[in-house]
Amino acid sequence: MVNAEIGVIGGSGFYSFLEDVSEVPVETPYGPPSDCLYVGELAGRQVAFLPRHGRSHTVPPHRINYRANLWALRSVGVRQVLGPCAVGGLRAEYGPGTLLVPDQLVDRTKSRAQTFFNGEPLPDGSVPNVVHTTFADPYCPVGRGVALAAARGRDWEPVDGGTMVVIEGPRFSTRAESRWHAAAGWSVVGMTGHPEAVLARELGLCYTSMALVTDLDAGAETGEGVSHTEVLKVFGENVGRLREVLFDAVAALPATESRACLCTHAHDGWDLGIELP
Ligand SMILES: [Zn+2]
Repeated sequence: MVNAEIGVIGGSGFYSFLEDVSEVPVETPYGPPSDCLYVGELAGRQVAFLPRHGRSHTVPPHRINYRANLWALRSVGVRQVLGPCAVGGLRAEYGPGTLLVPDQLVDRTKSRAQTFFNGEPLPDGSVPNVVHTTFADPYCPVGRGVALAAARGRDWEPVDGGTMVVIEGPRFSTRAESRWHAAAGWSVVGMTGHPEAVLARELGLCYTSMALVTDLDAGAETGEGVSHTEVLKVFGENVGRLREVLFDAVAALPATESRACLCTHAHDGWDLGIELP
């Protein structure tokens, strides 16, 4: 029986060198997740790593089975999730190498299944009820504090708070879109932060985003716009220290049973109609 308490959704750079990682295939009522769960011990905690885009990075942002990913993590016992991701900076001061721990989210995606409560029956015949989820503060306040402290502990001064706008992708923004996002006061732009965060909330999971800026978005710079080569280069330069911060954060998260945040109460008073795993 596999059991993990903390989930990390990110790239293979976060788990591939750990010893004694077991590959755990998980089936969900929503189909297969992006990959197996890679379960191992880290700082005395059982952690399930899930490569968001699959082990060979073949699943584009708009086709990730986000519901299966979150459901799979919860089904092995995960109750707190860290979600490192690469983003574009929307302000000149958020250049490549900036680590931002957002406290707000704007959804500009178009085609994604973004709820477990859309009336479709599960294979066991149960049907979810109509449920409206509390999401004013989309990220776990405790997880955010842990992530910020972990970064500072590695001499990497993070940006505390800011708004991540999530676009459909897989293309990058036009200059006009990017300027619009910046003018709205938003901080960074990504492609995977939604519906990952809301689906975590729907399952009562604590979710913390850790956004690594790999480039300035089109409206915030004057060159040719974002290139994939540039993104990969900056990510490669920072993946080592992001991994250190992530692992320190894993070690510092509270025990599942002593969570004192509001993440588990988003559905207080609602009859979900389905059993969560
Ligand atoms: Zn929480």
